[in-house]
Amino acid sequence: MPFALIHYHEVALKGRNRKFFEQRLIQHLHSSLRHHGVTHVESLPGRIRATFHGESCWESIRDGIQHTFGVANFSRAWAVPLDFTAPDLTTLGHRIEHEIATLPFQTFRITTKRADKRFPMTSLEVNREVGAHLCRQTGKHVSLGNPDLNIFIELVNREAYFSLVREPGPGGLPVGVSGKVLCLLSGGIDSPVAAYRMMKRGCKVAFVHFHGRPYLSRASEEKVRELVEFLTRYQLYSRLHLIPFGEIQRQIVLDAPAPFRIVLYRRMMMRIAEELAKREQSWALVTGDSLGQVASQTPENLQVVNEVPQILTLRPLIGMDKQEIIDQARQIGTFETSIEPDQDCCTLFVPPHPSTKSRLDQIQKAEQRLDISFMVKQGLERDELVEFTLNEKTKMGSNY
Ligand code: ATP
Ligand code: MG
Repeated sequence: MPFALIHYHEVALKGRNRKFFEQRLIQHLHSSLRHHGVTHVESLPGRIRATFHGESCWESIRDGIQHTFGVANFSRAWAVPLDFTAPDLTTLGHRIEHEIATLPFQTFRITTKRADKRFPMTSLEVNREVGAHLCRQTGKHVSLGNPDLNIFIELVNREAYFSLVREPGPGGLPVGVSGKVLCLLSGGIDSPVAAYRMMKRGCKVAFVHFHGRPYLSRASEEKVRELVEFLTRYQLYSRLHLIPFGEIQRQIVLDAPAPFRIVLYRRMMMRIAEELAKREQSWALVTGDSLGQVASQTPENLQVVNEVPQILTLRPLIGMDKQEIIDQARQIGTFETSIEPDQDCCTLFVPPHPSTKSRLDQIQKAEQRLDISFMVKQGLERDELVEFTLNEKTKMGSNY
């Protein structure tokens, strides 16, 4: 039986929470990999082992692990039983020899980790003995500095696991260990990156998107669905709330001074999002704001918008440059979808000269002319919930 051996970041998983974190990681790996022939995912000392059928597709197992936060690195591995009373590495040597027989390499290096200290040989002794065996049998040479092939051996629970390629995981914390948050997802470049970063810190992210219907097309919704589908790879299940915002914007346009529109839109979004966050049992809102990037993100306007929700608002991109955000969006793969043209509701009724330095008293005065609680209620009533499940078809639902 082949295995995947999965390593996590020791530092993040230290202390009393370790078992909890490890269990989350195991659950996640199991849900994600069971569709790809993985039968068991279990904890070994200091690592996790996933067992799969020999005929399973390693490419899809690997892809699943690469989308699992909390994984530091992983490898496909084979196991050979070890006898602690009569240590004999001949079988291990033969098995490795067999697996590397067709690989193109001239030099190799063996790196052993003895997790089970009951095994009477040290890591160095194992390196030497297996290395000498492979040199004799294959005619290849050892190179410690720059080998063509790295062979890893891990001695755990009376087994010697060996693997030939160690691949990096995405790092971070297992999704769910940091609770739930609600991300305001616009369809632009920034907010999907913000959601990704919170997922990476262990949050399960729900989404809300405000669209311009009936005044604008469905383009922004289509993009947002694609983005959520993409991000669902990391958390396996997502909920997206689609809120019609065109009517709310029309009322703001009719009743409030033009330069304040953008800030008033944002404050309305925050109010509706806060209500949704309560329903979603989320402890924070997440936005893709980056300081000074556009008119709504000046220090003054951010403060006036931030004043609205009681709940904590996280802005994981606040200190990043646009180029840094773009690089990250490319890296995670959301960039191409984000730059597709759409009709974001923010393009609807945009004033020619938005205020970049709004003051709370001015904004509160403008809001006195608006029926805020009715607008919030109206938005929530028209909420359309879409659920996304990895490996299953997207489900469409109404409110609750
Ligand atoms: P993005 O690239 O994420 O669209 P942006 O640079 O266009 O960001 P803004 O349009 O000012 O900046 O939006 C700032 C943040 O407000 C967004 O990152 C997002 O979190 C939220 N937001 C803006 N518009 C919407 C929307 N239509 N639906 C949901 N959230 C939105
Ligand atoms: Mg935007």
